[in-house]
Amino acid sequence: MNLPDKFFLTDDAAGRNTYLQMMTATAQAVADSMNHPQAYAGMPPYELRKLLACKDLLPENGMGFEAVLQELSEKVLPNLVRPMSTGYMAHLHSPALLESIAAEIVIATFNQSMDSWDQAPAATEIEVGVINFLCRLYGYGENADGVFTSGGSQSNLSGLLLARDWYCNEKLHWDVKKYGLPENFRKFRIYCSEVSHFSMEKSSHLMGMGYDAVVKVPVNSAMQMDCGKLRELIAADIAAGNLPFCVAATVGTTDFGSIDPLDEARKICDEFGLWLHADAAYGSGVILSEKYAGKVAGLSGCDSITVDFHKMFLLPISCSASLIRDKRYFEALTLHADYLNREEDEEDGYINLVNKSMQTTRRFDALKVWISFLMRGRKGWSDMITRCIDNAAYFYDCLRRTPEVEVITAPEISSVVFRLLPSPGSGEDADTLNKRIRRELLHHRGVVIGQTVCKGNVCLKFTLLNPLQSPEKLDELLQLILSLK
Ligand SMILES: *Cc1c(COP(=O)(O)O)cnc(C)c1O
Repeated sequence: MNLPDKFFLTDDAAGRNTYLQMMTATAQAVADSMNHPQAYAGMPPYELRKLLACKDLLPENGMGFEAVLQELSEKVLPNLVRPMSTGYMAHLHSPALLESIAAEIVIATFNQSMDSWDQAPAATEIEVGVINFLCRLYGYGENADGVFTSGGSQSNLSGLLLARDWYCNEKLHWDVKKYGLPENFRKFRIYCSEVSHFSMEKSSHLMGMGYDAVVKVPVNSAMQMDCGKLRELIAADIAAGNLPFCVAATVGTTDFGSIDPLDEARKICDEFGLWLHADAAYGSGVILSEKYAGKVAGLSGCDSITVDFHKMFLLPISCSASLIRDKRYFEALTLHADYLNREEDEEDGYINLVNKSMQTTRRFDALKVWISFLMRGRKGWSDMITRCIDNAAYFYDCLRRTPEVEVITAPEISSVVFRLLPSPGSGEDADTLNKRIRRELLHHRGVVIGQTVCKGNVCLKFTLLNPLQSPEKLDELLQLILSLK
């Protein structure tokens, strides 16, 4: 057997040199591919599929790194979307901050695994420190805790699961962890707004309760949960013998960025004895804006919070956290294994983060938060987040002054939803017009914007997460869109 020892990470001079060469060559290829402003090169799906069809993914003899890098540079890199472009605003999908890309090199190179202390000593201590800081940032007290997760969907599942187990343990005196769902589980109810994220239904399904356990509460004209309706629905469910246990408020809805009234939701949860979960996958970033932090102040009153760092916080995918006001409830996710998280070690101060997590092997994503918080500081962060929210307010104002456009609702954070109205006599209906414009931008103009449906109408959406976006560029984009009508 003849292993090319050059291509392993080793601690001798030759190994370290190879490491540097490979990293540098890769960074060079990436930098070379970014030499134009388009958010997407435009290739349609069937062409791209043909280009990337892989004849033999595992050739008899490997082609070597240089040749693969060449292939990557020619075919793959040019056809990736480029969230770093100010022409990219389709989703809650952000450009990655430079220091966090540097952090990814550390994460991948050392490949720490966050499940047990002996796989991640310094990394465990950093994650614990970052989590403690986040708990304070969101206004939680001494008993709070949290854990990094793979994303908002997993953080929501984690929050809802802890809510359900809390309810079963404390209200029904039933140990779900041991016995599974109680017989009356079909009566369980979770409340979230009709514009909440679909991970609510998915979580309910995964938790064995199904979509029917999720009650969709109507929203007001600002796309916020109508708390009067929420109270009525809960009261009616209780009267009907159902078992409400959780309200999941959205702090920054995916399409509109609207924020449910957290203080009112808290009062209702106290009145009926329910858990209040905050899905702040989008809105969690607002806390860092000095100007706008007040919008999310109510997070401190929630029992659990979903924070996504790969959206407004501009850190590379994946990076998310699940925070809990009372750390006792993490017990629902704790299970001891002799080979991994021994209780005897924990008594001696070895922290095994697997005890709070749905994942076992897990990335050292906390490093990205650590690096970028330290590097930019409060002021740097406040400026970036404030800029995004200000940009959305600016764009909304422009749209309101444009007669050919209908705007849906004033932005709370950094998303603006609108639709173009066809010119009289154009023969094109509004839905077709808006869909056509999005496709044209994607394939012919290097601009990637969002599309959604609001009250049955196809709408366009700008999700403004790039701090380098500017009023001037937004003016140009609007002119471009109007020119395609
Ligand atoms: C994006 C989003 C999620 C899901 O988060 P992922 O990180 O994509 O799993 C959940 N809730 C809201 C409101 C979101 O915008």
